[in-house]
Amino acid sequence: MSWHVLGAGSLGGLWAARLARAGVPVQLILRDASRLAAYRRAGGLTLVEQGQARHYPVPGQTAADSAPIQRLLLACKAYDAESAIAALKPRLAPGAELILLQNGLGSQDAVAAQVPNARCIFASSTEGAFRDGAAPEGEWRVVFAGQGHTWLGDPLDNTPASWLDELERSGIPHQWSPDILSRLWRKLALNCAINPLTVLYDCRNGGLREHPTEVATLCAELGELLATCGQPAAAQDLHAEVQRVIQATAANYSSMHQDVARGRRSEIAYLLGYACAAAQRHGLVLAHLEALHARLRGHLSARGLPSH
Ligand code: NAP
Repeated sequence: MSWHVLGAGSLGGLWAARLARAGVPVQLILRDASRLAAYRRAGGLTLVEQGQARHYPVPGQTAADSAPIQRLLLACKAYDAESAIAALKPRLAPGAELILLQNGLGSQDAVAAQVPNARCIFASSTEGAFRDGAAPEGEWRVVFAGQGHTWLGDPLDNTPASWLDELERSGIPHQWSPDILSRLWRKLALNCAINPLTVLYDCRNGGLREHPTEVATLCAELGELLATCGQPAAAQDLHAEVQRVIQATAANYSSMHQDVARGRRSEIAYLLGYACAAAQRHGLVLAHLEALHARLRGHLSARGLPSH
């Protein structure tokens, strides 16, 4: 059975290349005919691992293709997920499975609501990859920058997916997770405590060591939010982990900082935006988190970037 991977970007390319080299049938879905033509001109994907580039001629198509889709890896940004799935809906086979790779929360439910007959598997990944736009193959060249792990789970049905052995064969480190929502909430909280401040202070993660009180206050509010949203496990030792992450990744720029620095849209709506909306829904007043959200939105708007 063929995999379809929507989004020939960083994570989509990383997954498609590894599946293809293990002999698993895979098709990439490009945004439109002109992106497909550009992809075909490059002749496929290039994946760079430990400095070694290898080419993978993974076949491409657009949403307009007619072949039914049984298994779809949705590898676009959170803000593109809903419209991407709307275009593919007519092609989903009965009992289709979707793997949602988006960071943050909110996009998964929006996708699931559109496809009530498909199984939606949520993913949380610590793998790192980026597109090497400067190379001759341009954006079809993906650099595998950080080894990591992907947790997969279905909040509605804890039966592990039947294709985990294909990930095993493809060398994609993964684990079926019975509490994927807890993982996604925890990651969202870490993101909310670190990323917006790195944008506002224009610093690397380690720069937040100079703002310990602000970080501690945010962690306390995020902990309260997690507990109120029925995720007490995700709140455990949050502040200690945030401090550990700041220390361990001191030299790195957060993904949100990188997006803003490059003038790209951020996933704010699915991170801090989602957290603030959830607080509001529960009648919870989290003054510092709200203020951070307002400051960040102002910062993005001032730079001509979407603030939602
Ligand atoms: P990316 O490099 O920007 O790739 C996204 C891809 O989706 C782009 O190729 C884009 O096409 C494509 N796309 C968007 N809408 C589409 C549509 N309707 N049809 C077909 N293709 C479409 O993003 P990414 O870094 O892989 O991130 C994907 C998700 O994974 C994000 O939520 C991110 O936060 C999460 N994540 C990423 C990493 C990482 O290291 N990269 C790690 C963990 C989690 P165009 O090129 O035409 O715009």
